[in-house]
Amino acid sequence: MDFLNLNKISEPYRKELVDAATEVINSGCYIRGEKCKEFENLLCRYLGCNYAVGTGNGLDALKLIFRAYIEMGVMAEGDEVILPANTFIATMIAITENRLKPVIADIDATTLNLDINNIEKLITPRTKAIIPVHLYGRCCWSNQLKDIAQKYNLKIVEDNAQAMGAKSIVCGLNENYMCGALGDAAATSFYPIKNLGALGDGGAVTTNDTKLAEVVRALSNYGSEEKYIHKYIGINSRLDEIQAAMLCIKLKYLDIENRRRAEIAEIYDKNITNEKIIKPLFEENGECVWHQYVIRTKNRKYLMQKLEEQGIPTMIHYPTPLHKHEAYKEYNTLHLPMAEKCATEILSLPINPAMSDSDVLKVAEAVNISCS
Ligand SMILES: *Cc1c(COP(=O)(O)O)cnc(C)c1O
Repeated sequence: MDFLNLNKISEPYRKELVDAATEVINSGCYIRGEKCKEFENLLCRYLGCNYAVGTGNGLDALKLIFRAYIEMGVMAEGDEVILPANTFIATMIAITENRLKPVIADIDATTLNLDINNIEKLITPRTKAIIPVHLYGRCCWSNQLKDIAQKYNLKIVEDNAQAMGAKSIVCGLNENYMCGALGDAAATSFYPIKNLGALGDGGAVTTNDTKLAEVVRALSNYGSEEKYIHKYIGINSRLDEIQAAMLCIKLKYLDIENRRRAEIAEIYDKNITNEKIIKPLFEENGECVWHQYVIRTKNRKYLMQKLEEQGIPTMIHYPTPLHKHEAYKEYNTLHLPMAEKCATEILSLPINPAMSDSDVLKVAEAVNISCS
């Protein structure tokens, strides 16, 4: 059994993907042309937002949002950004690369996402933004988060790399409810293993803010809105036509794939019965698109080894909380009890649309008998 086999993920769409790639090759236009525009429009329609800007990858999308806010005078060097301890390091790099100051917050043990109940005490006069990371595909959003942002005039920048297709269940009737259209801006990644994965690198910024979208688009293309007229010192981070073409196809099937992920999560939820295992919350409400299925156990090392002996691969997302990385030495003395505890207990079981029911049942059974 594979944890994830990308060849199998592409297989159902192989012909469509090959035809679309051929069309791009024949067009002679390879970067930010018609396909990129088409995909940006499809993404806006899917999320219910006004603007999408294709970027080279997810890290750049997140970096560019903060760069744009700095160019717009909304933030300045040394301003603080709150983010959860349990996330991929990209979330942190996007802040420090912009010379902003990360304020790492503890997580909620039930969702493994940012603990929104505990962020208000971290806010100072220099706090300018909060990054809810929709980790493992689970929407991190609440009215309380919105209220805090409003009260302290903070931007909410979603890290939506893992949750394309997930919905907030707390939004009112006339509000956006898709992850990626909840906050002031969102960054997403189309890295091949993500729920909406390209066949290479890609990312996007999504927002309803006209000015932000304009500045991000310029910054990502050498700071230029018009050829050879440079308003900002930009970077080169654009979505290429082949990846945009792949994504136009993959987006059509995203909801079907996410539904399959939810079915798998449900099979795990019903069939993992060992009481030593803490399972992730399972509710059929679309709030989670199951990028990962993360259980917790006190005997992780033993369980991993037992599963491996039975040919079942597992992974840990993530073994080290942000503040314990060697790269960020100045944060190593910070103590965030829940994030640190969970980092020693979490284990990701295989979950992807290419898995069969019998694969899933095999994993569930192996977990039941292997955990002591
Ligand atoms: C994948 C990921 C990113 C970065 O995306 P890339 O396309 O790899 O640059 C950022 N944040 C989270 C939570 C991710 O999972």
